[in-house]
Amino acid sequence: MAATSIDKSERILVVGAGTFGLSTAFHLVERGYNNVICMDRWEVPSKSSAGWDISKIARTEYFNPIYTRIAHESLDAWRDVEPFASAKLFHQTGWLHMNPSDMSTAAAERFERGLENTRQYGDGSQIEYLTDENAIKAKCSLLTGDLKGWRGIFNGNAGWVEAKRSMEVLGEYCVQHGVKFISGPSGVMAEFIRDPQTNAVIGVQAEDGTQHHADRIILSAGAWSESLLDFEGQVFSGAYELAHIQLSEEERERYSSLPVLHAPNKGYCFPPTQDGIFKIASLTYTQTNYTTLNGRLVSVPRDRSLNPTDTLSEEGIAGCRKIAQACLPELGDRPLVYSAMCWDTESIDFNWIVSPQYVWFHFELVSSVQASAIKFSPSSPSTLYIATAGSGHSFLVIGKYVCDCLEGKLPENLRETWRWRPDKVGDAPRVNRVDIKDLHGWRHDGKCEKQG
Ligand SMILES: Cc1cc2nc3c(=O)[nH]c(=O)nc-3n(C[C@H](O)[C@H](O)[C@H](O)COP(=O)(O)OP(=O)(O)OC[C@H]3O[C@@H](n4cnc5c(N)ncnc54)[C@H](O)[C@@H]3O)c2cc1C
Repeated sequence: MAATSIDKSERILVVGAGTFGLSTAFHLVERGYNNVICMDRWEVPSKSSAGWDISKIARTEYFNPIYTRIAHESLDAWRDVEPFASAKLFHQTGWLHMNPSDMSTAAAERFERGLENTRQYGDGSQIEYLTDENAIKAKCSLLTGDLKGWRGIFNGNAGWVEAKRSMEVLGEYCVQHGVKFISGPSGVMAEFIRDPQTNAVIGVQAEDGTQHHADRIILSAGAWSESLLDFEGQVFSGAYELAHIQLSEEERERYSSLPVLHAPNKGYCFPPTQDGIFKIASLTYTQTNYTTLNGRLVSVPRDRSLNPTDTLSEEGIAGCRKIAQACLPELGDRPLVYSAMCWDTESIDFNWIVSPQYVWFHFELVSSVQASAIKFSPSSPSTLYIATAGSGHSFLVIGKYVCDCLEGKLPENLRETWRWRPDKVGDAPRVNRVDIKDLHGWRHDGKCEKQG
């Protein structure tokens, strides 16, 4: 596909100023676009965003080398590129990935591939193999759990990123460089405005009726994307579970040298923050919240910012505790000071959708022979672009690729991987999903969980 020439003063509307949206706005201004508008329910940092969190893992062992490469670019950006570098958002604590004794061979093989990708396409110089529980404990003497039969790797090149703060830093930078932000009811997209002749998207109507017209529209609404546009089964919104334990000052100091700890199908945890918050998260299953919306069955995020009394379910709390109980049992049953469901969009194959979305319209052929034939045709050029499907692994510097997509510069392999692909829905692997209506104890607003 040939590169598209876009006037730098074209009005570009980014719908959803979370992780993908902010990164996109940042890269747009870096490329000289001077008429960029971001809309979101919330001011930056958005309380609905998956990034509204104290920490995210920054690691490179991805099964698909595309993300291994991008993860290395992101590490470089967190370390060396402004405005990230001065803000010191990245903490290079290393990450200790452990394969529990009950881990499936398939999952272990996937991880091996991720390691191989890190060596081949990035920096594998700091990877150490830990062949049994003794090697794991020799690497990290803070671990007091049994860990019998566990093995793993330590990669000193990895660590964690201050998530919410990185959105603040990006938001401030964007404002200073002329990006306009619209929040509140006029920042909440209700529906697309379409050209009555061509059906092309020409803007967005907000919840309060305000109309925002634009030359290009980028939909980066994370877990809400599927509620706003029919993705034809390519994505679903899923929640992951996280919880916080408050450590004493003495404990904070003791655990301050922890790396990120990660065990597939169990969970992961982070070194304590400056104020002693120890975050634990579950990897047991993905939650959904299926509801019929405009005649479509859609998993709609149960937004924690709009439902502030929600907590994790009993099952979710048990899931989060698993990793601490296995590695640091002295913390495993401690009271939780916070717990939440945090939503992201999962695609059928865990790859992003970064793609133009052509509007298809049909016309009927009028010859008597073909009277019943209906042909579909894409409107051209596209005005709507999709940037979503973080799939639980994308706290990354993605905006560069969204800009490349807008400018028609994505290389063929990325265009193919991230394209609009309802034709692939049938190939989808099964993931372990549980609907929140079947979980217990997360609802505290006087209604029952079954109501979702
Ligand atoms: C619990 C959890 C842990 C994770 N941990 C990691 C990790 O350790 N490492 C990692 O790399 N990745 C991690 N991820 C994945 C990563 O955080 C996400 O893939 C990424 O943040 C998704 O970004 P997004 O922009 O698509 O969505 P979001 O950041 O959620 O942004 C979507 C935005 O759209 C806005 N919006 C929604 N509806 C509308 C509307 N109608 N109008 C206007 N705006 C709207 C929302 O308010 C929100 O601000 C994790 C995700 C979760 C949920």
